[in-house]
Amino acid sequence: MTHKDKSEEAKLRPATRLVHGGTVRSPFGETCEAMFLTQGFVYPSAEAAEARFNGEDPGFVYSRYANPTVAMFEERMALLEGAEAAKATASGMAAVTAALLADIAAGDHIVASRALFGSCLYVVSEFLPRLGVACTLVDGPKLDEWRAAVRPQTKAFFLESPANPTMELIDIAAVAQIAKASGARLIVDNVFATPVLQKPLELGAHTVVYSATKHIDGQGRCLGGVVLSNAEWVGEKLIPYLKHTGPAISPFNAWVLLKSLETLELRVTRQAETAASLAEVLAMHPAVERLAYPGRADHPQFALACRQMRSGGTMMAIELAGGKAAAFAFANALKVIKLSNNLGDAKSLLTHPATTTHQSVSEEERARLGITDGMLRFSVGLEDPADLAEDLSAALDAALAGTERMRAAS
Ligand SMILES: *Cc1c(COP(=O)(O)O)cnc(C)c1O
Repeated sequence: MTHKDKSEEAKLRPATRLVHGGTVRSPFGETCEAMFLTQGFVYPSAEAAEARFNGEDPGFVYSRYANPTVAMFEERMALLEGAEAAKATASGMAAVTAALLADIAAGDHIVASRALFGSCLYVVSEFLPRLGVACTLVDGPKLDEWRAAVRPQTKAFFLESPANPTMELIDIAAVAQIAKASGARLIVDNVFATPVLQKPLELGAHTVVYSATKHIDGQGRCLGGVVLSNAEWVGEKLIPYLKHTGPAISPFNAWVLLKSLETLELRVTRQAETAASLAEVLAMHPAVERLAYPGRADHPQFALACRQMRSGGTMMAIELAGGKAAAFAFANALKVIKLSNNLGDAKSLLTHPATTTHQSVSEEERARLGITDGMLRFSVGLEDPADLAEDLSAALDAALAGTERMRAAS
């Protein structure tokens, strides 16, 4: 295997890193990154095996620990994020859980924003407390709540921005400062913004996590996750946790995700441009009561979006005046845009959170989070923007006609 000089790669511009970063070629000199679908590795001698195990020879030992294809994906992710080190996992949730569990013990305390992806909320507010790790949930945008929640035992802060599905933002730099002053690690779930549009480490976060299932794959094929942080923490805390608990990603999935990184910037940039143009169409339609898109000046945190995101992103929330009936009529009238709870995909996808992703959240908590019955989450894909605009307009017209019929009848 021929290794490239890492410092040379770090000098390359982001688009170039996404195509070439982390590539290690076998003696065959293949153009495309090789897929090493192997559990283990053979050693030329007993002495060589001994050296591999005691670390004198840094080669591979077992794919639960590390694998050449997975290592290429991790290296390319680290170059993209500007992180010292990255480790891939079997899913986004495996990444979130690892980022928390790798460096926590009974008696510790964590603070998390309330508006979290459902499974993240389960991990911080149900699973960790069972292990003796207390958790305080706060309203993420309210900085005073983070400050007030800190205890001497606070070890980690966890947040997501923009939040799913409300598109509410949290000031990452400000929360990072509070975390630093309290001696806590700030972990940011950066799925909605993508590594292309938001850089939490530059804003002061300690760790970034991704569900690579979303924009990084971007074509709805496989699950994956990534944890990125400084080399010391990854080496001392994260790697032992991953090595011995085993949430390893399949080399096949890592290969798919590695190849997807080549087009990530192109896809996300295009999807975000389309999203910005569709937001204009949606905001003007009489059926739309409220539109939440961080790239529009009418987003209540537009100034913050400009500070911490490169653009408004690929996701938005739409609130229809006619509640659940209008939301369902709209969803059912769509032809090009598909109903699915994935996001970041090449295919534009729409979800009704109140009855799907957030069905298990109590009505009271949904109200608190601002997830109404008329709200829909929209993930913008790679289709022609004109086809998407026509699809949305026709479906909104249908929803509006239905609402008016109902009003006339009552
Ligand atoms: C999807 C998602 C996850 C979980 O990722 P999986 O790959 O499905 O395990 C975590 N956080 C956010 C914000 C997500 O959207």
